[in-house]
Amino acid sequence: MPELPEVETIARGLRPMLTGRCVVNIPHLAAHLAAHLAPVAPPAGQSILHTLVGREIHGVSRRGKLLFLELAQDEILAFHLRMTGRLGLAPIGMPPGPHVHLLLDLDNGSSLYFQDQRKFGTCALFTPDQLAGWPFFHDLGPEPLGLTPEQFARQIAGKTSRIKALLLDQRIIAGIGNIYADESLFRSRIHPATPANQLTRRHRYQLLAAIQSVLQEAIAAGGSSIRDYRTAAGLVGTFQDTFEVYGRKGLPCKRCNRPLQTTKVAGRTTCFCPSCQAIEGG
Ligand SMILES: [Zn+2]
Repeated sequence: MPELPEVETIARGLRPMLTGRCVVNIPHLAAHLAAHLAPVAPPAGQSILHTLVGREIHGVSRRGKLLFLELAQDEILAFHLRMTGRLGLAPIGMPPGPHVHLLLDLDNGSSLYFQDQRKFGTCALFTPDQLAGWPFFHDLGPEPLGLTPEQFARQIAGKTSRIKALLLDQRIIAGIGNIYADESLFRSRIHPATPANQLTRRHRYQLLAAIQSVLQEAIAAGGSSIRDYRTAAGLVGTFQDTFEVYGRKGLPCKRCNRPLQTTKVAGRTTCFCPSCQAIEGG
């Protein structure tokens, strides 16, 4: 699933190509996508998305794992890519292949496509008030890259949940998923099952520093392409080449050479080094 670095990479790639462009036609809109739109009554026989025709795109932004197209009249088209969602640009009339569920033709001869093999991805049009009232958006925790050690401590204060489960919880911190949680915990030498309230101040500081460096390095690498993820230009990211634990079960730890193991935390396969990641944070 695309996490913060992948969505940020897509947003950065789309921003210069979409800002100032106008939607001129919507030649394709899949029914399952239309069903996920904000509950505003569209004209008969149309989806609310058809009101996008003639509208200018003012900007592209990201919040957590959500990608926003900021539109004229202050509306926001929000994409959640989920498992296999992809956004990119193709020449009008030349969609990139199967599983395309939305095409927005633009006034410069290109077409923004939303491609999603598994169909879990969503797209919805919001007014600012509707977006603010959307529980998923409203409950999002702070962005990790701007987080101070004091704010991070407040977000996890008094929590007995395992630290990895908290990192995955979008209400605690927005944008982190399985890959970057595992990599950050390895880098800070903290066992993923450590109860959050057992982390010392030093551990929290190290963990936040690890989260921020891992995310920044991943953004610089164009994200991690382990399944379907591609940048807006259709390129693969390269951060997967530097994974230290994610997907490396049984392979030697890059630090101590002992085999990495997996466990389940919050229902997610979690790869870690039982030697380097001691229960209380090492
Ligand atoms: Zn190790």
